[in-house]
This record gives sequence, structure tokens and C-alpha cells, in this order.
Amino acid sequence: MKKQYLLAPGPTPVPPDVLLAMAKPIIHHRSPDFIPVIQQVRADLKWLFQTTQEVLTIAGSGTAGMEASISNFMSPGDKIIAVNGGKFGERWLKIAQAFGVVPVEVKVEWGHSVDVAVVADLLAKDPSIRGVYVQASETSTGVAHNIEKLAALTRSRENTILVVDAITALGVVNLPMDAWGIDVLITGSQKALMIPPGLAFVGVSEKAWKLQASAKCPRFYLDLKREKDNLVKDTNAWTPAVTLWIGLAESLKMMKVEGLEKIFSRHARLAQATREGLRGYGLEIFAKDIPSDAVTAVLSPAGIDGQAVYKNLREQYGITAAGGQDQLKGKVFRLSHMGYADVFDVITAISGVEMVLARLGYKGKALGSGVAKAQGILIQE
Ligand SMILES: *Cc1c(COP(=O)(O)O)cnc(C)c1O
Repeated sequence: MKKQYLLAPGPTPVPPDVLLAMAKPIIHHRSPDFIPVIQQVRADLKWLFQTTQEVLTIAGSGTAGMEASISNFMSPGDKIIAVNGGKFGERWLKIAQAFGVVPVEVKVEWGHSVDVAVVADLLAKDPSIRGVYVQASETSTGVAHNIEKLAALTRSRENTILVVDAITALGVVNLPMDAWGIDVLITGSQKALMIPPGLAFVGVSEKAWKLQASAKCPRFYLDLKREKDNLVKDTNAWTPAVTLWIGLAESLKMMKVEGLEKIFSRHARLAQATREGLRGYGLEIFAKDIPSDAVTAVLSPAGIDGQAVYKNLREQYGITAAGGQDQLKGKVFRLSHMGYADVFDVITAISGVEMVLARLGYKGKALGSGVAKAQGILIQE
């Protein structure tokens, strides 16, 4: 027998109460049975996004939310700034190009956060730029970008929106949509929201709705206006993913019981313990600037293939973490500490990494030195 531990940056583990809620017989989405679910989800998503605006729920993975955030607010030929500091930043460029939107790429060296001054400069030079597209947490590198500072740049520009892929940041770190002036805020179900893959969420500001009215990119299924017009009547444009909505209602209930501040402080503590624990075993964290509190990318020690660490964690100990992607393949491995994660997920991760590296011939610190470091942090309330 091998017990399984899911420590990858999505899908993440789903709490038993959520699984049980989803195991009940299916209900009809246009019957009165579903209305309380919609009403609760509508209210709780506003709470989670820290906005008074409606948050739209789409049946699709997180990328559907990213695509909707281009096609609903831009017209072919429009110019956007796309911050590209990893695999997901790169996706903005690809989606923009698919719709004939012109991306001005701000290339960020992997491992670094975007230099806000570079974005400020581009915006100042070109009043025609209609959007700044960025990740709050770039999952491929384990790096966060400074969203509060970027929002300060776009806030005063009437025709420029800030679009934030917060798929591994919402429900992890504080991203007050209205207070900071984030125009489009995106997340997905399988990361910090603790439900299975299949839903994307998009919060939309008043400024962004104004752009939406004249944006000409083709859209049908992912037309957010149609979704909003239905949602305000407590219904959906299409057949919603009923079971996932029911799971979502349950996970949002759990999140409300914990409260936003405690959710953020828990993630900060788990992330810090992960980073310090790994350093305590002599390893180096890949993030050079602001590290993500959702996922930690760690450099594999010299002479040890990062993919071998990933593979051995799985095969020896049943731990599914993640390897590196593209240019980081073999160089890093990644550990998630978001969503349904707590003290012993971190201990399991660090302990597993120590044991696997020791087996692979790592001659750094003694077994347990990383775990001890993490325990020292986690034992403090
Ligand atoms: C997971 C993730 C996505 C979405 O990926 P899907 O596979 O479409 O769900 C987008 N951006 C970031 C930063 C992510 O971590």
C-alpha cells in the first residue's frame, strides 16, 4: 500500500465536506432547488474577491477565464501590455495573438518580479494601451508580481484596465479588488478554492464593463455580459457545472468560517515555513524577488535532476509535487502549500524532499535539518 499526498500547484486536495456535498444526487439548474446555491455563491464570491461587483462563474479551466478577459474587453488591433515572467505570462501573448490583439511584451527574467517602473514607462509613452495583463502569482516560477503598485498605474487611466490572473493568488494573499482598483480578477477552481478542476471565475469592475460594451473581439460562450445579465436574476446563461457549484458553495462556507485574514496568514506561514525549511536543508529557493505564498519553486542541488526528485517523491512516497516547465525542466521542482493545506502538508513535503535527495546522493545538511527549521516556524502561533 502507498498513501497518496497531493502537493502540486493544482489540482489541490479537496476537503471531505466538499466531496460529500458533491456526492449528493444531481439537482436541476433551472429548478428552485438551485436558486439558494446561486444566491450563496454570488454573495460569497463577492466577499472572496472583496468587491461589490458580480463575479462570473464559467464552466472551463482557468484558461477560459484568461481568454474571456481578452475577448470581452479588447478589439482586434488594440494594444495591451503583457507581463511575461513564466509559462502563464506567456499565455497572455498567445491568447492576445489568437484574437488579433497586439501584445506589448514586458519580458521578465524567470525568477524575478516585474519592474513596475518599466510598465509605468510604457504606459506613459503610449496612451493607446488599453490593458495591462499580469499574473499575481506566476505558478511556473513561484514568483509574485506587485499588483497593488500596478493597480496604482492603471487606476487613473479611463481607458486602460488592469487584468490579473490570480489563479494561484486569490484566496492565498490579500487582493482587494475594489480597494486597489483591479479591473478584471481571475481565478480557477482547482487551486486555492479547494474544489476539483472545471470552473473559472472572473470579477469585472465598472470601468471594464464600459470597455466591454465597445470591445469587438468575437465571443459567444464566454460572453461575460450575457453571463452577468443572467446571474443578477439568479440564473445562468448556459447549463452550469451544477456539481462543482455545489462543491463551491461548501468550500466558500469553509472559507468564510476561517475568515480572509486567517486564510492569508495561514498561507503566509506555510509558505515561509516551506522556504525556510528547504533552506534549512541547504537548498536554494528559485524566486529572486517576491516569492509566491501559494507555491515554492526550489532549485535542485548541483548534479541532481529536478525531474528525478519529482519522480522519486511520487514513486517512493506517493507525494505528487510538480517538476519544472520549459527552461526550468530538470532545474527545479515545485511544492504547493495552497488551499486545503496545513502544518503537516509542509512537514510531509520537506521531509519527503530530504529523504528523496538523500537517496539520490545529496551531500548537504543532515536529514531532519529542514524539518526542524520548519517546525520551529510552525510551532509559533
Ligand atoms: C493553473 C493556472 C492557470 C490556469 O490553468 P488551467 O490549466 O487552464 O486551469 C492560469 N494561470 C496560472 C497562474 C495558473 O497557476
